[in-house]
Amino acid sequence: MAEIVAPAKPATNGQPQPEPAPKPRRYDYDIVIIGSGPAGHRAAIQSAKLGKRVAVIEKKTLIGGVSVNTGTIPSKTLREAVLHLSGFRQRSIYGASYTVKENITMNDLLMRADHVIRHEIEINRHQLQRNGVQLFAGIATIVNEHTVHLNFVGQKGEDELTTRCIMIAVGTTVAKPPGIPIDGETIFTSDGLLKLDHLPKTLTVVGGGVIGCEYACMFATLGTRVTLVEAGERLLDFVDHEIVDALVYHMRQQRVTLRLGENVRSIEKAKTRFGAGVKTRLDSGKEIVTEMALYAIGRQGATASLGLENIGIAPDHRGRIAVNEHYQTEIPSIYAVGDVVGFPSLASTSMEQGRMAACHAFGIEHQSIPRALPLWHLRHPGDQHGGRQRRGADAGGHPLRDRQSLLQGDRARADHRRHHRHAQADLPSRESQAAGRAYHRRRRERTDSHRADGDGFWRRGRLFHQYGLQLSDAGRVLQDSGF
Ligand SMILES: Cc1cc2nc3c(=O)[nH]c(=O)nc-3n(C[C@H](O)[C@H](O)[C@H](O)COP(=O)(O)OP(=O)(O)OC[C@H]3O[C@@H](n4cnc5c(N)ncnc54)[C@H](O)[C@@H]3O)c2cc1C
Repeated sequence: MAEIVAPAKPATNGQPQPEPAPKPRRYDYDIVIIGSGPAGHRAAIQSAKLGKRVAVIEKKTLIGGVSVNTGTIPSKTLREAVLHLSGFRQRSIYGASYTVKENITMNDLLMRADHVIRHEIEINRHQLQRNGVQLFAGIATIVNEHTVHLNFVGQKGEDELTTRCIMIAVGTTVAKPPGIPIDGETIFTSDGLLKLDHLPKTLTVVGGGVIGCEYACMFATLGTRVTLVEAGERLLDFVDHEIVDALVYHMRQQRVTLRLGENVRSIEKAKTRFGAGVKTRLDSGKEIVTEMALYAIGRQGATASLGLENIGIAPDHRGRIAVNEHYQTEIPSIYAVGDVVGFPSLASTSMEQGRMAACHAFGIEHQSIPRALPLWHLRHPGDQHGGRQRRGADAGGHPLRDRQSLLQGDRARADHRRHHRHAQADLPSRESQAAGRAYHRRRRERTDSHRADGDGFWRRGRLFHQYGLQLSDAGRVLQDSGF
């Protein structure tokens, strides 16, 4: 019978030997990114450029997030369509009643938005493919700090991906408080706006934040009588007061009724002289009856079913995740970027956060110039600003270049400013001037593809001339310029 012999052990000379080092764990991916909005997209491209294995999980069938599908891009495209069809830009020449098209319909506006949305989705998808990013259509749930569960869209099964790090870029969803009968027809949110079948004659906008102001101005330009209700005493309190004064002045010129410092007690469906409508009751006892109401109060982090409880991360009451300066959560291998981490919740800043977090995750030094990122961009004359505000800058002994208020000066000068860049800003640094020149050089090269969006692109591009940034390009410019 054959004798069983134990395998020979290496000679130890009687000394205790150290345990062999555990082999590094092999993950499916270096990074799994949940969400394909600006934050997730930019993080994916940055990681791929660093030679990493990248997966992006998106629960919607269309990629691009809120920015491409319902927020930034559609709203800016609608704005361009409104400006064009309403003849707003030519009214100083042809008179206040001039329009390019009589009876503008929702379809007129949406046709242009659809075209631009499809174009943007195609660009995004192509960019991910070109950089070798694996795209999954499914709902992601975090199982542990290195594993993400994936439920494929359309009940096409499930899977689990292991990864060295996870990036949460799930953005936000509209907050729908109980008691407000949002039906998408008479009472709608910014997400439902693209599905409206006609333009209202009268509209109540609840919420004087960025989205509320933006749509209030657009509808007013189209001839809708708008009432805007805001609980604060000022609109957009985070924006330079001088700019807000100019905004309020122009809104009133467009016959927008502002109800500032008013709390909404209830919103309910009601009969109006137009048929079905909405009655908005304020705490002060006022009642506003309009054909439709846009509910534009707040959004909350889309973290409800993300499985954060599995890893012990507790989002705040608005679903936002706390992060450090590198966008790392309390678990070092898990990052969170974009709207889900809170202010300023903009496409440009989300992109930059995604890029910065990806660099940090792979130990790459990064530089950022958030000071030069556009902070907001809304309304018809193109009120936008970036950089420091006058109040803070003056107090800090760094006066901003003085610019006359839009409320003063002659109309021609105001028009000129309006079409170029009338928000005040710091004097540009040499870096931002260089970024500007590089940006304009590249933009000239990209002329043809962008002309699809008409002249609006060119005008918006100039608005950030001083910083060399165009809204949707901010992240790319910064990256390309080596910042
Ligand atoms: C009406 C409106 C106008 C705006 N205008 C501007 C503007 O002019 N300028 C500007 O800079 N910003 C603007 N914004 C804000 C801008 O759209 C956001 O800041 C930006 O989209 C945030 O990007 P994000 O990547 O963080 O999230 P999002 O764009 O919200 O993308 C998150 C993605 O994650 C996906 N997701 C969520 N949960 C899961 C899950 N569990 N599994 C898989 N996928 C998931 C979602 O489907 C979504 O596609 C506007 C927003 C709105 C609503």
